[in-house]
Amino acid sequence: MNKRHLDHGITNYEYYLSNQDVICPQCKLPSVLSYSPCDAQTQYFTEGHFSFTCKNCLYTLNGSKQNTENGYYYARADGRCRKCGGQWLYPKEKLVNSGSLPKYIEQQCTYCHHFTQFEEYTIHFEYDKQLGYTKFGLDLYLKTPTRWGDLFVYNQKQLTNLKAFVEANLRERTQNTGNSSYYSRLPAWIKSARNRKEILKALLRLEQMATTIQP
Ligand SMILES: [Zn+2]
Ligand SMILES: [Zn+2]
Repeated sequence: MNKRHLDHGITNYEYYLSNQDVICPQCKLPSVLSYSPCDAQTQYFTEGHFSFTCKNCLYTLNGSKQNTENGYYYARADGRCRKCGGQWLYPKEKLVNSGSLPKYIEQQCTYCHHFTQFEEYTIHFEYDKQLGYTKFGLDLYLKTPTRWGDLFVYNQKQLTNLKAFVEANLRERTQNTGNSSYYSRLPAWIKSARNRKEILKALLRLEQMATTIQP
């Protein structure tokens, strides 16, 4: 019998913005990174608040510490060189101290060598360690190796959904599903029907790991 899977366009970011199963950096036991959504829409950060207090050893990490072990904030702008108009510039500057923002960011034109300063810029966050790690540099708990690479999920909800996707041999998308959906962005080795058996085995290992998580 055919198993259907319908992709509604959920993004990886939506799975990220929720409670996550992680390994405590201190006692190395599985614990939970808690997420509470943002109450007010701010200009730059729509991300809510993450906090971590290990339920076993009480080791704590929180947003006020501005812990950037796993990445950094940067400012970005774009526009033409204001002197010769010849080059489209994309200045990008690492923010070392998020408490004091730079007055401007600048980039030099390769044609006329003039420095254009951008007083208006947007702020972004970029991760250093992309795969298998999360906020505060925490190691994701639900992670297992396969011969193509690590398979990991942020939480059990994502595990359930990923399993339904891998099991399905009929994969459909709604009209609004863009290329940014979690499923369309999955690496080809996870999507390949030829690897299905082995991926399902890896997902089973993750399910077994999930049963050891105490609620
Ligand atoms: Zn701990
Ligand atoms: Zn120029």
